Formats: sequence, C-alpha cells, structure tokens
Amino acid sequence: MPPLPFPMPATPDAPLLAIEDLVVRYDTPHGVVHAVDGVSLTVRRGETLSLVGESGCGKSTLGRAILRLIEPAGGRIRLEGEELTGLSRRALCPKRRAVQMVFQDPFGSLDPRWTVGQLLAEPLHVHGIGPRAERRDRVLGLLERVGLPADAAQRHPHEFSGGQRQRIGIARALALEPKLVVCDEPVSALDVSVQAQILNLLVDLQRDLGVAFLFISHDLSVVEYIADRVGVMYLGRIVETAPREALWRAPLHPYTRALFDAVPDIERPGRARAPLSGDVPSAYAPPSGCRFHTRCPLAVDRCRRDAPALRPAGDPDHHVACHLAPGGAP
Ligand code: ADP
Ligand code: MG
Repeated sequence: MPPLPFPMPATPDAPLLAIEDLVVRYDTPHGVVHAVDGVSLTVRRGETLSLVGESGCGKSTLGRAILRLIEPAGGRIRLEGEELTGLSRRALCPKRRAVQMVFQDPFGSLDPRWTVGQLLAEPLHVHGIGPRAERRDRVLGLLERVGLPADAAQRHPHEFSGGQRQRIGIARALALEPKLVVCDEPVSALDVSVQAQILNLLVDLQRDLGVAFLFISHDLSVVEYIADRVGVMYLGRIVETAPREALWRAPLHPYTRALFDAVPDIERPGRARAPLSGDVPSAYAPPSGCRFHTRCPLAVDRCRRDAPALRPAGDPDHHVACHLAPGGAP
C-alpha cells in the first residue's frame, strides 16, 4: 500500500498538538457548566499523553474540543504549529484527517446495517482517496493491522465481541493515517483480559506507525501501562503533568496523591490510606482559588483565594499547580 500523500508539517519543530488556555462551556437551562477552564498542554509526535481524573472533570470535553466536535469558548488549539481554532468547517476538513478519535462505544452513533468493510471504507471515500479497488485493499490492510480476519469486511459490527468491535473502531480511526488519535476510555467497557489485548495493540500500532495518542482514562492501572506522560485533571483544570515514572515515584499534587491512595494496593494491603473525602464540587459554580481546596487536607487561606498556576517542580517535565507543593512560593 503506498502511503497517503501528507503535506509537510507547517512548522517542523512545533509540538504535534499544542493547547493553550482552552475554555469549553456548556450552556444549559440550569446555568453554565465550566467543563474545561484554562487548560494548556502539548502532545509530542509519537507519544502517549494520558489524561486522568474522576468522572466529570472534563476529559471527554477536552478530547471532543480538539476534534472541534464542540466549539471552545476560548483559547487556542494548534496542530504542528497551525491554528485549528477559528478555522471554518471547510478549511478544517483536510486538517481533520490528521486527528481521529476512538470512543468507548465505537459504534454507538453508526448505522448498524453497515458492514465492517463499509465502515472502514467510508472515511477514505469522504476524503476522496483512491479508486474503489485501492480502497478495498486499504480496508483489508487495516483489518490485518488490527488483528482481524479479511472476511470481517463482509460482516456487521454486532456480530463481533466487545474487544473485536474496539479493534474495528481503531481500524476506522487509522484509515486516514492520522498523526494523533484521541482515545476516550477505549477499554473501560471491556473485561480486564481483553483490555490488555487492546492496550497491546495500541502499543504495537504506535511503535509501527509513529502515531501519537491522547489517551483518556479514569483508571490508573491502564494509564500506568500505556502512558509516556500523564496529565491529571480536576474540575476542568490540569493540576499536574509529569512523565509516568516521575508521577508514580513522586506524585506532588494532593489530588494526585489522593487518586493513588484510592487504588487498592495488592502488595501492601495494610498500608495507611487517605482516600478522597467529600463530593466533587459542582461544575456550575466551581470553588474559588484552587479548585481542590474544598477537599484538600492541606489547604490554607491562600488556596481559597488564588488559583495556582502550573509551574515546574522536581524532575524535568514535571509540573504542578499547587501553592504548597515543594518549590512553591511561601
Ligand atoms: P469526563 O469525561 O472527565 O467524565 P466530561 O467532559 O464528560 O467529563 O464532563 C465535564 C463536565 O461537563 C461535567 O460536569 C458534565 O456533567 C458536563 N457535561 C458534559 N457534557 C455535557 C453536555 N452535553 N451538556 C451539559 N453539560 C455537560
Ligand atoms: Mg468522559
């Protein structure tokens, strides 16, 4: 299969994806939901950045905003240095090829009458790739890549198991040879043994294709397996980013520590723990200052008043948004 013709990156040194101060809100009859509130992050070529945090902290909203499935209210999203925010739908279309998405339920929104072959050929067709015969070859190549037999093309998604359906979802996301795939809880609905198979497939695909993943998960064991770097989200903000090893060795934010403490430790069952107390505050009226202060065992006056910015801490590449973490101003 010849590679698809891809334009050279606009700015070769720019990170693959750079998000600056992104704001996403939902206007609802009950008020405005502050789902993503000033998030900045980068994804580098070929890496896996994992976003982790409790349900409702804005992970999916952030992922969907990158694909412009929802319009941000503010901030910037750049792909290889080129700004995506503000582009018209039409101008966005060719760029959209480079960023694809894998969902927890891959076929929730797709017509169940379609065959797998049709599902995989559709993105190629939409982007005007190849004559029919070439598209058929590409579909067969995609099935092989994700470990499905060639005759899967004639069958329908509902004839497959959950793990196989997720393989089909991944194949569809890869059809246009994206540079970044946003994976939103792609294994959360699967049995643990099947989860491992899908995670291994993603690792293999990344090694062979050089594709980067923004991998969203609420499950720390999954993140530990797949991530190169991790971003921890709380109530619409990033509170800590670090390489995986650094985060597991020395989590700095009290929220990150609480997340780790909430995971049962099989090796040290008697270990003292301080899991999270209290409920997540409402995203309609997030707390002032540090959003975690209402649940933080360490909070002082300043935390209620001033929102801490992400700042370097510890290892290179480790950043934390906490007034009280080591290295912060008194
Ligand atoms: P996560 O993926 O981390 O669980 P979400 O991005 O789904 O978080 O949600 C972030 C916040 O936005 C939550 O408070 C959620 O209730 C709210 N939210 C998500 N989708 C919508 C929507 N379509 N309309 C209104 N509020 C929404
Ligand atoms: Mg979600």
